Amino acid sequence: MTRAYNFCAGPAALPAEVLEQARDEMLDWQGRGLSVMEMSHRGEAFMGIAEQAEKDLRELMNIPDDYAVLFLQGGASSQFSALPLNLAGPNDPVDYVNTGVWSRKAIAEAARMADVKEVASSEADGYAHVPDPSQWQTRDNARYLHITPNETIGGLAYNRFPEAGNVPLVADWSSAILSEPVDVSRFGMIYAGAQKNIGPAGLTLVIVRRDLIGNAREGTPVMMDYAVADKADSMYNTPPTYAWYLAGLVFQWLKRQGGLEAMAERNRRKASKLYSFIDESAFYANPVNPENRSLMNVPFTLADDSLNAAFLEGAEARGLLNLKGHRSVGGMRASIYNAMPEEGVDALIDYMAGFEKEKG
Ligand SMILES: *Cc1c(COP(=O)(O)O)cnc(C)c1O
Repeated sequence: MTRAYNFCAGPAALPAEVLEQARDEMLDWQGRGLSVMEMSHRGEAFMGIAEQAEKDLRELMNIPDDYAVLFLQGGASSQFSALPLNLAGPNDPVDYVNTGVWSRKAIAEAARMADVKEVASSEADGYAHVPDPSQWQTRDNARYLHITPNETIGGLAYNRFPEAGNVPLVADWSSAILSEPVDVSRFGMIYAGAQKNIGPAGLTLVIVRRDLIGNAREGTPVMMDYAVADKADSMYNTPPTYAWYLAGLVFQWLKRQGGLEAMAERNRRKASKLYSFIDESAFYANPVNPENRSLMNVPFTLADDSLNAAFLEGAEARGLLNLKGHRSVGGMRASIYNAMPEEGVDALIDYMAGFEKEKG
């Protein structure tokens, strides 16, 4: 069996060790004679798996006790709706920063439910930088201030976070959660779809300060009410049990790697190799301001677009998969999340160098 290097933006590569463990436990989990998929979510075995996953995540991210950790369904996109429903009334002010495709989607959904203000945007330069927080036109009475720390499609990332004062800072961290340490106490809420850096699709994490929940507006669907989920330990209904279990295996893998400090160091090394190669080449280019380049998603273009198909074909033949850029931006994109080993980045650079030499 050969494992290819999968550069997909999501659902993304998972650590081989985690998949091997899941394989070994697939038919008979720890001598119980059944798969985790077949267990009652209310049974003692799965409750243990669920609790351990939460405990490991709290330890990895150093999540303070006054934050709820929710294991939900519906993807990050559902949180675009759940967030205003839980934290704001129909006419309440909510502030958003626009740094790319995912911010725009969050803004569009919230605009149906609250008084949205776009307090800063880098749309004018094609999202090549993160607007300087000192210039944001924020409102002191906003219910929250929403940011997207890592724009998965544009490859744009924050390198520091604003001081939001008393306004809770909310972050859609779908594509960079667990890639480096973060001070959770600076945020009111952090959410992320699992399929980039946590586990398989179908699971969504919400980490929210408990004093912010419990006031969901009238008419909020019960499945979107954070307080209901918190009270039921994310088991108001049947949770995505297998995805929760796999996320737990990923958390344990991260702890074995040395935690988020160690991952950050590895991620910085991987990204800096790839960006340096792109910058030194006259054939490949990345448009993002170097200070705001994502460590997780590296978009790049070829000097001649008509070579794109040949580039992708050659890559696939070498086991370098899913390098095609998002349809909205074109070109290429290499997503190099936690599970992408450094050798995968080396193999990509090696291929890119050879391609340039031959065709450039
Ligand atoms: C992938 C992604 C989403 C959408 O996630 P779904 O789980 O598919 O809803 C939202 N925001 C960001 C930053 C993403 O990368």
